[in-house]
Amino acid sequence: MKVAKELLEELVTANRILAREDIVDSFGHVSIRHPGIPDHYLMSRARAPECIDVDDLMEFTRDGAAVDAAGRKAYAERFIHGAVYEMRPDVLAVVHHHSHGVIPFGVTGMALRPLIPLAAAIGADVPTWDSRTSFGDTSLLVTNMAMARDLAATLGTRTVALMRGHGCVVAGGSLREVVLNSVYLNLNADLQMQAHALGEVTFLSQGEIRAVLETRGAFTYERAWERWCRRAGRPYDVRPMEGPLADV
Ligand SMILES: [Zn+2]
Repeated sequence: MKVAKELLEELVTANRILAREDIVDSFGHVSIRHPGIPDHYLMSRARAPECIDVDDLMEFTRDGAAVDAAGRKAYAERFIHGAVYEMRPDVLAVVHHHSHGVIPFGVTGMALRPLIPLAAAIGADVPTWDSRTSFGDTSLLVTNMAMARDLAATLGTRTVALMRGHGCVVAGGSLREVVLNSVYLNLNADLQMQAHALGEVTFLSQGEIRAVLETRGAFTYERAWERWCRRAGRPYDVRPMEGPLADV
């Protein structure tokens, strides 16, 4: 099934933004659920996100098989995306990244919690998945569906799960939402480290988290996305509030 060019361009833009904002480097990836085949997803071939173009985008089945590889090599950790889409019908976009800010929290058991409103969506109980618990000594890479489903179970209904010694997975209801939450997850982690060095940290309360998320609308995502498009050298396409592209 053919996918709208605008949607593919949006996915390219998401890759470039995540690279420009230092959320991904040579590694890490972002995907969207296929708009016409809900148990398929779209993501790039194995390539640094900063370098990705439309021709790099591939379609995968839920289990991570390429529909038409055409000689292109897939990301080894693509299974993460399929497992999240399988477990979470509400999720339309997924980011897996290894941003430096989150790593210390995954290896120490120190709880990562939102302390600024723009990070509210990470929630008050960010879990950490440890590959060693169920799979013993591995490379830590999620290279099959069994590991990916175990990770997705740890994520549960949340927005974020950390991965011990590795990175995290971020799930969202749209591409713009998942990118915003990835950027502010990393910023919150950096700020929490700095604040912790000064003293006891006051986090957002559950009520404050709820209040922020109740008032968050398209305006927040659009304002951030426009600026990030500018910084990444990509055209900004105002997202319609309704219609087939609205939730992507
Ligand atoms: Zn990884």
